[in-house]
Amino acid sequence: MAAADDLARRLQALWDEQADEWPMMARGVEYLANSELREVEHGGLRCRLQFNPGRVVSASAKVDAKSIAARPCFLCEKNRPAEQRGVDAGDGYVFLCNPMPIFNPHFTIPTLSHQPQLIADCLPKMLELAERLSGEYTVFYNGPKCGASAPDHLHLQASPLGSTPFEQQLLADPEGFIGWIDKSGSGAIGQTSEPWPVAIALDGTDRLAVQEHVEDLLAKLAKQYPADPEPMLNALALHTDGKLRVILFPRTSHRPTNFGAGDGQVLVSPGLVDMLGLLITPRREDFDKLDGEAVSKIYQEVSLDR
Ligand SMILES: [Zn+2]
Repeated sequence: MAAADDLARRLQALWDEQADEWPMMARGVEYLANSELREVEHGGLRCRLQFNPGRVVSASAKVDAKSIAARPCFLCEKNRPAEQRGVDAGDGYVFLCNPMPIFNPHFTIPTLSHQPQLIADCLPKMLELAERLSGEYTVFYNGPKCGASAPDHLHLQASPLGSTPFEQQLLADPEGFIGWIDKSGSGAIGQTSEPWPVAIALDGTDRLAVQEHVEDLLAKLAKQYPADPEPMLNALALHTDGKLRVILFPRTSHRPTNFGAGDGQVLVSPGLVDMLGLLITPRREDFDKLDGEAVSKIYQEVSLDR
């Protein structure tokens, strides 16, 4: 399937063209190119900090219902910048270049219709796109209350496969990295090993079977951790070597308790990418100050207890 589908090639072409013709995105790409990286380590947890001043708006965005309702939705076609073009993703979804990227390339994949961010509604698309972009891209989801900058407009994102410390470890050693609990039946289920934050992994070769497996798990989470409109979580799907893999990070809060832009506070607003060990720090002082221990503490604060 992957070989016959030239989607990845068309996405790269879109990215290159838009970076040339759209000044706002060209600036975002430049911010990313000039961003600084720093490795931090604590008890075997190896993470990377990205100092990217271009992301300050996103990290400090107000995502409460009132603020969201008051702003024009930037994922709705009628409000998008005139220069922004897309590639059809099928089923009423479109690939758009993220003009303030964390990755190169970095796509946002909204629906054409303005509808709320809910994993149940985009799970089938997430899995289908991960399969179509096999070996090329990871497709991911941020819940409406844990990282989505547009909680009112359904969207996925895509990043080059293996761009984060978590994925790199997963791809290098999936057996050692995930404690597989049950490998019977059509798929496997497991849990990330320490020192990574708790995440649940599901994999299989049959997309619909994986989807059902994830839906079962979501139903269990909803029962055990009822929340409106869904249990807090981030999720990713990737496809390599004929296997589709989904990882869910159940969350307890969006931002760490000392989140903020004041003295002694930290401007880190964890979404999926941050949970994968690539922490975006839009402020120089957080980039300089955060160490591995502080990152571990953030993970503990925002994720479910082991
Ligand atoms: Zn919208």
